Amino acid sequence: MSPAVHPIAPGGVPAAAEEEEEEQEEDAKDKEADFKIPKLRLEIRDLAHPGSVIFLRSVDIADVLPSATRRVLHHLYRSPSCPTTTVPPTRSVTLILRDMDGVAYTTGSDLDNDHKEIHLSTRYIASVRPDRQGTEITGVLVHELVHCFQYNGQGRAPSGLIEGVADWVRLRSRLSPPHWKRQAGERWDAGYQTTAYFLDYLEVRFGRGTVRRLNEYLRTHRYVHEEMWEAVLGRGVEDLWSEYADWLARDPHDNGLQDGQDGN
Ligand SMILES: [Zn+2]
Repeated sequence: MSPAVHPIAPGGVPAAAEEEEEEQEEDAKDKEADFKIPKLRLEIRDLAHPGSVIFLRSVDIADVLPSATRRVLHHLYRSPSCPTTTVPPTRSVTLILRDMDGVAYTTGSDLDNDHKEIHLSTRYIASVRPDRQGTEITGVLVHELVHCFQYNGQGRAPSGLIEGVADWVRLRSRLSPPHWKRQAGERWDAGYQTTAYFLDYLEVRFGRGTVRRLNEYLRTHRYVHEEMWEAVLGRGVEDLWSEYADWLARDPHDNGLQDGQDGN
């Protein structure tokens, strides 16, 4: 299988405050859940790179990958015993820090797609504002780890949906960057935070576990645009997107706009 590449757009606002309590309850259960964590490995290509030094100083090296992995598995699969989800057979994840363009990407091993590699740019880490380094590194890792564990409709899901799910987990993990905001636009599958906030709207509107249901559908079905949304949510995605835009326009106070940049 050819490796999938998912460059990250830098850039959120926290999940809705009213859901915080429920989230905390689920987080508590998450800590009890005993997901089988695959082998996690770390490779730093150049210890002398300023980004490597920042990485080692900004995160708890022993904890950051297992914690982020548990968080991702919880958001996508709830618990190992959940009867409606199926954790994929990912056997290992290797985080490789190296000097490269961009932010990060995830790929399957050439030999075995169940072995994943996350490449994270030390040059990018070195460019992050000092007060955001730990949160940004963890947020990027959560995003990339979603790619190690999510389903893709037998390779047919739009990349914008794949990236949206990854940023939805980052959003729900309260690791979104400060400049993210809810916005509608021309396309529901613009990806990243645009699709992430749309998924979050669907999660609230159709109930907790909606994104898990979509992910599970993408495990068992080849993605067909006209079929999945009707099958899972009973509506076409274009209708849902248009209702989302109406909702945003109706309720600007609740659309995540911050700092008076786009609203007041
Ligand atoms: Zn991605």
